[in-house]
Amino acid sequence: SLPKIAWIGLGIMGSPMSENLVKAGYQVTGFTLEQEKLDRLAAAGGTAAGSIAEAVKDADVVITMVPASPQVEAIAYGPDGILENARSGALLIDMSSITPQTSVDLAKAAKDKGIRVLDAPVSGGEAGAIEAVLSIMVGGEKADFEEAKPIFEALGKTIVLCGPHGSGQTVKAANQLIVAVNIQACAEAVVFLEKSGVDLKAALDVLNGGLAGSTVLTRKKDNFLSRDFRPGFRIDLHHKDMGIVTDAARNVGAALPVGAVVAQLVASLRAQGDGGLDHSALLRAVERLSGA
Ligand code: NAD
Repeated sequence: SLPKIAWIGLGIMGSPMSENLVKAGYQVTGFTLEQEKLDRLAAAGGTAAGSIAEAVKDADVVITMVPASPQVEAIAYGPDGILENARSGALLIDMSSITPQTSVDLAKAAKDKGIRVLDAPVSGGEAGAIEAVLSIMVGGEKADFEEAKPIFEALGKTIVLCGPHGSGQTVKAANQLIVAVNIQACAEAVVFLEKSGVDLKAALDVLNGGLAGSTVLTRKKDNFLSRDFRPGFRIDLHHKDMGIVTDAARNVGAALPVGAVVAQLVASLRAQGDGGLDHSALLRAVERLSGA
């Protein structure tokens, strides 16, 4: 029979992902901070728990999808947390985007409790989560990866074991670098095109058919055209990820000259009160610099 799943963190990503597991036939018990998200899981056929301890106590697999390292540490190590309350032999899959070092430390601490860990951050955004076509970048032991694979296949399309604990997070950090720089390039092109008086929709359509085309342009084109910056992926989270990648790159001596500038632009949006907007709002930073 299918493993019993506990899912902690039912946000923009965790809600649709956990519902895809319910659709695939898994028994899913969830916990998150917002009551309406718990109600949503129950309505979709899952079970709402009143605490992390209650959610994980009978689980074979515990999945976490929360904002950042501090939340992963709180829900893993807290007195009501996963390591205290999950059964020995359980598999903990953290799908949040966090620092690689946090994943390495978590795997070590969990091992003492007989709990195995995979880091399995994702890319593909809310649309990728809903459509179950995420890219899933995994770090950990091969046997644990193989055990988790059917679960990953219910959530995503491109599923790759990248190496030992933390490597999934390192690859995700690179992903976030590429996405931010790509959005920034598109935002600069959008302001340039508009100020030049070219039809923006026509321009973006033809650009997307050539070498300048990208998933970012496909997914964010409508945000650029309408200036609708509801998230999606919040600037606050991308700010967190630019911190992770610049830090990790410095640790290994890799230069990120362009990434560092884009990290500053993301930080400036946040400082101006736009942290809750979608990351396509990098367009606003370029507009401000352009006097628009
Ligand atoms: P979100 O803010 O929408 O959701 C986070 C959820 O975590 C919330 O439901 C919150 O209740 C829950 N949570 C926080 N602290 C908790 C605690 N102590 N106990 C229980 N639940 C807790 O965030 P999101 O957009 O779903 O992102 C989640 C993670 O996935 C982040 O690490 C993000 O970087 C990553 N990610 C997001 C996207 C995206 O497009 N939104 C894409 C890929 C990866």
